Amino acid sequence: MADKRDYYEVLGVQKGATDDELKKAYRAMVKKYHPDLHPDDKEAEAKMKEVNEAYDVLSDKDKRAKYDQFGFAGVDPSYGAGQGGYSGGYSGGFSGDFGGFGDIGDIFESFFGGGGFGQQTRSNPNAPRRGQDIRTGVQISFMDACKGTGVDIRVNRLEKCPDCLGSGAKTGSSAETCPDCRGTGTVRINQRTPLGVFQTTKTCERCGGKGKIIRDICPTCQGQGRVRRVLSKNVNIPQGIDDGQTLRITGEGDCGINGGQYGDLIIKVNVRPDEMFEREGFDIYTEVPISYLQAALGDDIVVPTIDGTVRYRIPAGTQNGDSFVLRNQGVPKLYRSGRGDQHISVKVEVPKNLNKKQADLLRAFDDSLDDRNSAVRKSFFDKMKKKF
Ligand SMILES: [Zn+2]
Ligand SMILES: [Zn+2]
Repeated sequence: MADKRDYYEVLGVQKGATDDELKKAYRAMVKKYHPDLHPDDKEAEAKMKEVNEAYDVLSDKDKRAKYDQFGFAGVDPSYGAGQGGYSGGYSGGFSGDFGGFGDIGDIFESFFGGGGFGQQTRSNPNAPRRGQDIRTGVQISFMDACKGTGVDIRVNRLEKCPDCLGSGAKTGSSAETCPDCRGTGTVRINQRTPLGVFQTTKTCERCGGKGKIIRDICPTCQGQGRVRRVLSKNVNIPQGIDDGQTLRITGEGDCGINGGQYGDLIIKVNVRPDEMFEREGFDIYTEVPISYLQAALGDDIVVPTIDGTVRYRIPAGTQNGDSFVLRNQGVPKLYRSGRGDQHISVKVEVPKNLNKKQADLLRAFDDSLDDRNSAVRKSFFDKMKKKF
């Protein structure tokens, strides 16, 4: 094997290239050397392989860091061995990126969808794969969000088959390596395209891509190794959680494949609005109605908090909309100590539906007022007089 070229040089990028630059460079190289465009061209095939290998390393943060530090020795030694070069490096999530390639798009589709090219296999079908995350939601009251609560959750998920422990084979038997694909899950075929014939791989029909054959299938899971079960669980919702936030419970999602770890259970929390409290961050806002008399003379008013009612002294001459702060009476901070504040704003209730006697009393009272009792109105009228 010839001397390996520096990965950055292979892709034609600077050492500090961003992910975007890498991707762009990679696409350009794929466009240039793709074996579909150069059938039976060993050189293009070798280039493509080199490009794939370089991209596989540089697009992976960990691998790239190791490569930057230790060179080829820092990355998986199989990269230098000339085969098995990239194992699934770009198998997921990439095909969509090639949508803009116009007329050669279809080839890319079949290329990326069809399971690699040349001698390389993209991924080992027997490699452990992590299970899916499961998403669910719960609805709790405002008060439960403040205080924390436990909720019962039921989700349908895939669990490891209890009878075959995930192998898919009936108790006492075991899975055998597929003789057609020798366990790789793919077989090589010649594919005819308008650009010529090239060799590609496709999913092994005999084993369906699993790489193994189970002769005595586990009846419990039908050979899948996983069974669908209902998980019932009491989940602790921590105090301070807010509407729309999610909780992640590690390892409570779907069972993995081939011994891969379980996915996570992700719970989105919906908090029902409260009729008295509004929340912003960890602060609570409450509006409390008071009478005209209470506003004028001051009073001990009763204020609701999440811990029950408290008395709060409002001063004489309190105006409509004035607000007061109850320190540390807000929502407990999520996963931290301390609480937010509670803001009380008062709303003066102007009396309605007055009878004649009440109206007369009020007029008599109003007649008794002088400028000192109504400084705000006085100053307003003074300003108006000056203007006009
Ligand atoms: Zn089973
Ligand atoms: Zn097979």
